[in-house]
Amino acid sequence: MSVLPKSVEKVIDEFSKVPGIGPKSASRIVYHYLRSPNKDATKLSEALKEMDDKVKYCSKCFNVSEKEECDICSSKLRKNDKLCVVEEPLDVVAFENSAVYDGLYFVLGGVISPADGIGAEEIRFRELDSRARELLSKNDKLEIIIATNPSLEGEATANYIQDLFKNFVKEGKIEITRLAMGLPTGADLEYADRLTLKRALEGRRNI
Ligand SMILES: [Zn+2]
Repeated sequence: MSVLPKSVEKVIDEFSKVPGIGPKSASRIVYHYLRSPNKDATKLSEALKEMDDKVKYCSKCFNVSEKEECDICSSKLRKNDKLCVVEEPLDVVAFENSAVYDGLYFVLGGVISPADGIGAEEIRFRELDSRARELLSKNDKLEIIIATNPSLEGEATANYIQDLFKNFVKEGKIEITRLAMGLPTGADLEYADRLTLKRALEGRRNI
């Protein structure tokens, strides 16, 4: 017989699925909501449901958005001859909060990681290829800035992208650059401060 009611256990199970949160932290979170006098649990569940209902992926850059095309992709103020390729939506947030970049983004949705069983087919390379071609139809030249994290997986992914566009590079239509290593190896882009990101972007080099 379980000590906790089924309904409580169910919520603890759900919170335990969050990366970085074990059963202990999950229990603590759940007790916080059980004690809360303001129907906070109901508010949380409504907020989560609303997010689930409203948020989708932008059809151009695959960042999270409430629209078919996100505000960045549809903005006339953004330069459409620069495409910054990042791993996750939070990396876009890091760049945008730093206000150091005026081009467009593309969110890969991860990196190649054989150790975790993630191969190239699970990353949005095909979509990246289409997006690059679409932008090339509007510009003579396109710069693809690879901003994957400076990890082994991030490097492997950068190499894959380089290979993907090698013909365009040869023809001089695409220039591929990589963020400068102001970022320490293993560092996460999403935690980089403004100055680090600015330096990494300004010091980007051709690969
Ligand atoms: Zn977008």
